[in-house]
Amino acid sequence: IGTHLASLTRTRTTCGYCGVGCALEVLTRDGEVAAVRPAKDGPVNRGHACVKGRFAHGFLRSPERITRPLLRRRSGLEPVSWDEALDHIARGLWAAVNEAGPDAVAAISSARATNEENYLIQKFMRVVIGTNNVDNCSRLCHSPSAAGLTAAFGLSGGTDAFEDVERADCLLVVGANPVEAHPVVGARLLQRVLRGARLVVADPRAVGLAGYADVHLRPRPGTNVALFNGLANVLLTQGMVDEEFLRHRASGLPELTAILAGYPPDRVAEITGVPAADLIAAARLYGQAKRPAIVHGLGVTEHLHGTDGVRTLANLAILRGAVGTDRGFGVNPLRGQNNVQGASDMGALPDLLPGYNRVTDSVARGRAEQVWGTEVPDHDGLRIPQMFAAARSGDLRALWIIGEDVCATDPDTNQVIEALESCPLVISQELFLSETARHADVVLPAASWLEKDGTFVNFDRRFQRVRPALVPPDQARTDFAIVHAIAAAYGADLGCPTPAEALAECGRVAPVFAGITHQRLDREGAIPWPCPNAEHPGQARLYLDRFATPDGLAHLAARPYLPPGESPDDDYPLILITGRRWAHYNSGNMTRRSGTIDLDPSDHIDMHPADAAHHAVRDGDTVLVESRHGRTTLPARLTEEITPGQLFCTFHFSSSRANALTSGHADTVTSCPEYKVTAVRLRRTQGR
Ligand code: SF4
Repeated sequence: IGTHLASLTRTRTTCGYCGVGCALEVLTRDGEVAAVRPAKDGPVNRGHACVKGRFAHGFLRSPERITRPLLRRRSGLEPVSWDEALDHIARGLWAAVNEAGPDAVAAISSARATNEENYLIQKFMRVVIGTNNVDNCSRLCHSPSAAGLTAAFGLSGGTDAFEDVERADCLLVVGANPVEAHPVVGARLLQRVLRGARLVVADPRAVGLAGYADVHLRPRPGTNVALFNGLANVLLTQGMVDEEFLRHRASGLPELTAILAGYPPDRVAEITGVPAADLIAAARLYGQAKRPAIVHGLGVTEHLHGTDGVRTLANLAILRGAVGTDRGFGVNPLRGQNNVQGASDMGALPDLLPGYNRVTDSVARGRAEQVWGTEVPDHDGLRIPQMFAAARSGDLRALWIIGEDVCATDPDTNQVIEALESCPLVISQELFLSETARHADVVLPAASWLEKDGTFVNFDRRFQRVRPALVPPDQARTDFAIVHAIAAAYGADLGCPTPAEALAECGRVAPVFAGITHQRLDREGAIPWPCPNAEHPGQARLYLDRFATPDGLAHLAARPYLPPGESPDDDYPLILITGRRWAHYNSGNMTRRSGTIDLDPSDHIDMHPADAAHHAVRDGDTVLVESRHGRTTLPARLTEEITPGQLFCTFHFSSSRANALTSGHADTVTSCPEYKVTAVRLRRTQGR
């Protein structure tokens, strides 16, 4: 065994699946992955990893991998040289800019790409094209967390370091299923509970942690704001608030007190379906804990009022003085994809430059302009849903999609496809011929996370190194190299030729990252932001002195409950929730092509036995599910994990077309789609 191990090359990197950020050791031989092991000293995972990080790497050598550029001809997508593909792209971008101006071009960057790649993409759009039309897929998941946490506390990130959860004595886990979607965090939360912490789970489904909960609240989808207002009402009326903290470190209490009077437990029970006694019990557990913690997921954000959901959830931590103090673990979003935090940190957003500086802020813009040597447009660009709308209306002439299968992951698939088909130039950078790539004019073969050099930022704001264990196959290139190549074909030089130089340059544009470099990360392992200089250790727990809001206070939010975009009615009497399962990742393009597919080979729709009986459906029957936006067929799985009147399926299998069903309703603040509430109907089409 010793000789065998000695012949292997070891590469320390960071997992490219979920946002936990597990440190991994990749063992390779002759250009193949022999094994992946969790790093024992990984700052978040401490020697653990889940099935995706450890075993889902078979996709690397899939025969379906794209390894040469493809260009659309009359006969379809055909292999071409890099020079031909780049020339076609450069001509298309020039034509779009010359005919309709820089805002006729847009780019969708990726939470799967490294920080340095995201930095370079947004720089290309702002500096070379001259538009702020750049967004990333955090738009579709945690943009309400970013907006809500910024408004409440001042910075767009979780408030604390995850290790602090080890000291929490009450966990409030809301709209998250970490046992499946973030398994290493799920295991650590469970360990904490088994060692005595109290647990409140708020989720319509009986997710993995619910079986261990002291109280499981099952609100109707779309009623979070009422639920959180109800919990706050109990905290306030039963004297479970930190008055000193509220006096000195928070604002907005009179307005909140006034609105909470309208949310007594009985009324909240009517709106949410959560029994008043359960609501009171949950509020008491959180309110009487010495160090309560809030962890939330997409069940809070992916709603018509997702940002209000985050704000009203943050109210609970503020009322208890459990944020910015050592008396709690604040409010912490579990990021879905590996680099959701970093893609936004790097400014791949239409309204924000690197470091969350507004494009409308002349001081921040001036700093970027000084580093980049050119003017930056001073108006917000398009968000992803606006890009698709502009493509459908003919205003968008070129759309560059990096590492995203938008046909599978974005809502209302039919509208997305129409947008791609309406846009004169669609560029897709991908590992596989995804449904999105099939609609592209140019497909560029990209590298995977195991073939890249750079950094990711995980869910608790930690920068960690990503190192290439393999070289990309055949003609595939990293997104970093592709952006540089497109810039060169367009006649531009982006500077920062290496990822290390790109991160260093980003630190000059965004002082909040100025102390974080590849060299430091290679020495120290992980550094959380803010980290303003080379001597600064990085700040794991935020706001101990003051909040980062303009007045230094935490801001309570008085928000009324407003109904979701769709509610059950006679035509569409059921509510569909979409989400993730443990063996798969997002559109499934990687996990469906790895050996781990055997663990979870196909999608199904979960329904309660009572609903199944009503619709004469048996376990395994094929059902037709229809919404006002589209339809799909799936086998039914009968389970009491789901509440009667609700259905659940994932978006991991392109064949299931889950997002053909979902609506265009989106968070009123951030445009995050309302994936968690779609009115549907179903009927059995086929027996087993
Ligand atoms: Fe860790 Fe998430 Fe990767 Fe699993 S998928 S190994 S939990 S980072």
